[in-house]
Amino acid sequence: MAELTQRQKYDLKRKIEELKEAKGRHTELISLYIPPNKQIHDVNSYLKNEYSQSQNIKSKTTMKNVLSAIESIMSRLKQFKNPPENGMIFFVGHKSVGADKTEMVTFVIEPPLPITTFLYRCDSSFYLKPLLDMLVEKEIYGLLLIDRRECTVGLLKGNRVELLKYLTSHVPGKHGRGGQSQRRFERLTEIAAHEWFVKCGETVSDIFQSVENIQGIFVGGPGPTKQYFVDENYLHYEVQDKIVDTFDTGYTDEFGLRELVTAASETMTNLKISKEKKLMKRFLKEITKTKGSLAVYGESQVLKALEMGAVETLLLSENLRKYRVKLKCNGCNFIKTITITEDDLEDFEPPKCPKCNHSENMELVKKIDVIDEYSDLAEKIGSNVEIISLGSEEGDSLYSAFDGIAGILRYPLDL
Ligand SMILES: [Zn+2]
Repeated sequence: MAELTQRQKYDLKRKIEELKEAKGRHTELISLYIPPNKQIHDVNSYLKNEYSQSQNIKSKTTMKNVLSAIESIMSRLKQFKNPPENGMIFFVGHKSVGADKTEMVTFVIEPPLPITTFLYRCDSSFYLKPLLDMLVEKEIYGLLLIDRRECTVGLLKGNRVELLKYLTSHVPGKHGRGGQSQRRFERLTEIAAHEWFVKCGETVSDIFQSVENIQGIFVGGPGPTKQYFVDENYLHYEVQDKIVDTFDTGYTDEFGLRELVTAASETMTNLKISKEKKLMKRFLKEITKTKGSLAVYGESQVLKALEMGAVETLLLSENLRKYRVKLKCNGCNFIKTITITEDDLEDFEPPKCPKCNHSENMELVKKIDVIDEYSDLAEKIGSNVEIISLGSEEGDSLYSAFDGIAGILRYPLDL
């Protein structure tokens, strides 16, 4: 399965937050997952059936609400000949807006990954599990177990461990049989071990080089052999570079793969954080430079730098929660864009036009999440976009000290 970009993950997370908030007063919120290969007319007959079943719902209000939600989905389905590339999801229903009132909401979502199962749910909240599953990290790690007897190669994909190769050696044990000179025996053993490591090195390198997007490789095994194998460069240098660390495991066969994953789990979590930390450290180092600094921060400066095409890496705090809001005067067509927080947006009232004496307040014509707006600009000029989470000192400082928006520049700017 493909991996989502940070941006896609962020957008999906936000969408899920929004959907989570909708609560029905009864079981009257419909979630409908349509996989890409599903025929629209099949979906329609399914809905027709649900429609007639729903007429048996005891509560009049609930029945009315469910029926109108189904009707709404059916009418929207008419716009589609086939489902989009990844399928689509309808979230439709009357959500509670307090004091006995409800309001009909409709979300049609084309998910960033394909929907695998057709699903219809009617409940008091939207059914979000398949969407949440898309957020689970699909990162790929290489797993290698080695000692003088066995070598096992595997992959960790998300939570799934895959065995790719299992090899056994003919390297004799440490102790010689009677009759042979101990010294000669040891020499032969070392030659056999070396040959075994060469063979493993080649096989393992071939396997890992043929897998795309390996984020890192973990090496396990009992005793010092694994470290020796790594240190003596038996692996291709590109594979060698991806080794994150070695871990002790009791087994070097398929059982050992699970052991290795458990042993390395903390390191895996730290990898993501450390990548973010590294970026932030680079930024913080640039900040302290008095001359030729490549750091830029704050909404307006970063915006300028983006417009000049000068941003190499854009750093955005995951917790920004701000919107760019476009306001328009209906008298003189004056347009103004302002930034407001998510909290303020709830009961936001546009101001009067500052240009003319128009009697009406300005009109809110568009709102866009700041992260989306800045990411769009950055993608246009080919910058990297990194969404930085809270929880590390560096990530927190981006949010609290730099307005959640910063950048590392391609060249120094005089802003
Ligand atoms: Zn005006």
